[in-house]
Amino acid sequence: MKTIIEPFRIKVVEPITMTTREERTRFLAAAHFNVFNLHAHHVLIDLLTDSGTGAMSSLQWAGIMQGDESYAGGESFFRFQHVVADLTGFSHVLPTHQGRAAERILFELVGGPNKVVPNNNHFDTTRANVEHSGALAVDLVIEEGKHPQQRHPFKGNLDVAKLRALIDDVGADRVPLCMVTVTNNSGGGQPVSLANLREVRAVCDHYGIPLFLDACRFAENAYFIKLREPGQQDRSVCDIVRDMFDLADGATISAKKDGLVNIGGMLLLKDEELFQRASALLILTEGFVTYGGLAGRDLEAMAQGLQEVVHEDYLTYRLRSTEYLGERLLEAGFPIVEPPGGHAIYIDAGALLPHIPPAEFPGQALVCAFYREGGIRAVELGSVMFGGGGEPPPLELVRLAIPRRVYTQSHLDYVVEAAGIVFEGREGLRGLRMINNPPYLRHFSAQFEELG
Ligand SMILES: *Cc1c(COP(=O)(O)O)cnc(C)c1O
Repeated sequence: MKTIIEPFRIKVVEPITMTTREERTRFLAAAHFNVFNLHAHHVLIDLLTDSGTGAMSSLQWAGIMQGDESYAGGESFFRFQHVVADLTGFSHVLPTHQGRAAERILFELVGGPNKVVPNNNHFDTTRANVEHSGALAVDLVIEEGKHPQQRHPFKGNLDVAKLRALIDDVGADRVPLCMVTVTNNSGGGQPVSLANLREVRAVCDHYGIPLFLDACRFAENAYFIKLREPGQQDRSVCDIVRDMFDLADGATISAKKDGLVNIGGMLLLKDEELFQRASALLILTEGFVTYGGLAGRDLEAMAQGLQEVVHEDYLTYRLRSTEYLGERLLEAGFPIVEPPGGHAIYIDAGALLPHIPPAEFPGQALVCAFYREGGIRAVELGSVMFGGGGEPPPLELVRLAIPRRVYTQSHLDYVVEAAGIVFEGREGLRGLRMINNPPYLRHFSAQFEELG
């Protein structure tokens, strides 16, 4: 069947404000050509991020009313803990307000100067928290993961030979844990295979190093395993999820992705002593161990979302929608990161706009064109985001992230149509000049003007 039938019907709707190209041209200039400065209601299709932007189900909203707001020992926590234990096998579960709060606690405990933390690719908040502790964050994704057009079923895999070499080089005592990000967000939302996780585990066991997952998109990763890994086709997603977590000593999770909620996260731990120390830090900065900076209602919504995200009808729709957008953009002529990952399509703006040099921000120029032509908000992952240090990054990417359960196939067809207009006009797109350059995280607040 060609139609991606959304496995839900719509009970509540949120109107989208229609705008004209002329209006958007004005809004873009007023936002100084930085789409973070737009009013969200001036955006038609918001593909800025898949984080916290999903739609909750009727049962999640019902859970919101059932939230137990007791300061300590609320029923909502026990329901949440039970669901997480069932799904992952972990009984030491600390709720946090986002993924980065879990990262901050973890690396405050195990990081520090002289420490080295390997990962396939650190997500930016993970890297920032590792480095904030004084430790060194090292990315060890396989070679295929670095080449946009090179296809590999598990492009997020960690290079185990490089992991061994790193540990031999620095010494196991300097490596407090090894992390694997599933799916590999910074590498294009690419999955990691069970076989690779087992190999990484074996290396960790050899050196006595704990293995942690950055498991924000654990369900999308598990479904890729079911679709692509030999021998996994007849297994349930829940069994595969369990296998992934069984290989780990702990996990940090942002529930704003596969938790299907707008806010929330968690830290999962096996080690009793580490759990006690993490609990103490949680109480210090987030809140008591049975709410961790969230409301009881948020825990209810997470508990329900974590059960819904492993439904295979949902995951079929989810991964197929992303793949569909990728296929249509390839047909239209766009160079993209292949194969499409789980949550987003990444356009290689450097290859699309060879007439705009990195110093004139080809990715940002493409982001502006998507907004001007279609009211579509994407995000630049290139010289604006990563070029603050002087050297341009290896790739000028533009990410179209797909919020969960928010847009239909018809919305994606609209995106493809607008993309076609952008593609036709690509040679006329102009670069940008940065007119103010904030010292930190400049992509959020930088201002630009268009070059003549
Ligand atoms: C989103 C994300 C995080 C951080 O989570 P927040 O909830 O935004 O703090 C960490 N790692 C990965 C892979 C992510 O995608």
